[in-house]
Amino acid sequence: MAAAHQPISMDQPAVLRFAPSPNGLLHLGHALSALENAAMARRLGGRLLLRIEDIDRTRCRPEFERAIIEDLAWLGLDFEMPPRRQSEHLATYRAALDRLDAMGLVFASFESRAELKALVAERAAAGGRPWPTDPDGAPLYAGRGAAMSAAERARRIAAGEPFALRLRMAEALARLGGPLAWTEVDETGAPASHVPADPGRWGDVVLARKEVPTSYHLSVVVDDALQGVTHVVRGQDLREATAVHRLLQALLGLPEPVYRHHRLVLGADGRKLSKSEAATGLAALRAMGVTPDEVRRQIAHGE
Ligand code: GLU
Repeated sequence: MAAAHQPISMDQPAVLRFAPSPNGLLHLGHALSALENAAMARRLGGRLLLRIEDIDRTRCRPEFERAIIEDLAWLGLDFEMPPRRQSEHLATYRAALDRLDAMGLVFASFESRAELKALVAERAAAGGRPWPTDPDGAPLYAGRGAAMSAAERARRIAAGEPFALRLRMAEALARLGGPLAWTEVDETGAPASHVPADPGRWGDVVLARKEVPTSYHLSVVVDDALQGVTHVVRGQDLREATAVHRLLQALLGLPEPVYRHHRLVLGADGRKLSKSEAATGLAALRAMGVTPDEVRRQIAHGE
């Protein structure tokens, strides 16, 4: 396995990407992220790619994709077209999943949400302390899927039962050659810090589900590698996820980009913006006569 921390050479041409999910309209937070990517691409003389993260077919819609492209053009950002659409590359993610499976690092869990919740309560009571949660606050997987035989896994999947395929986190960590880390760069693209990555905090993360044969974590690392992304610029809300991405990159032998996790645009209530807050939606602001320059000014503070 590759050394645990070996970021891409800073001499190679820079490639950046903005990767929205078309499950709603873009808001000021997305505008900041798109602008941060464009600014660094310009500074480094690099490419600026757009990736549509539409693996969740129940929530993503083509009209949101069209609106995203319109909003980005309105902001004056010049992304290379056409975008990479994740829903068109499911076989590629499956191949990566199969590799992890062949390494013995994947198991299937068949518990429903309600069953998992009950198991968490049961195990917390038995242990006399709260069951651990991941960085997003969700309880770690408390089921017993990891112990299931390959034959039973195959039988239950063939029977059509709903399932999630998860990473055997402890085994995955044991395979690493050394501690995992990533390089965080500043807004000029210069290395600013060396951040230790602790993916174990996420437990046995989901890599795929019956209805979506990949996951955010898996497709993002596969695509960043396939698109030759050198600088991942995204919001601080994804900073903890970077630990999982570094782990998957190390396991799959993928190159290691550098990262910049920028501040978030917060709503009036001090919380992260959500796609349902129409007041900060770019299309709504545009309809109200707000100009792209005013949008830039509105989000250009803090840090
Ligand atoms: N699709 C993710 C989102 O909309 C962003 C993925 C990334 O930048 O890594 O939050």
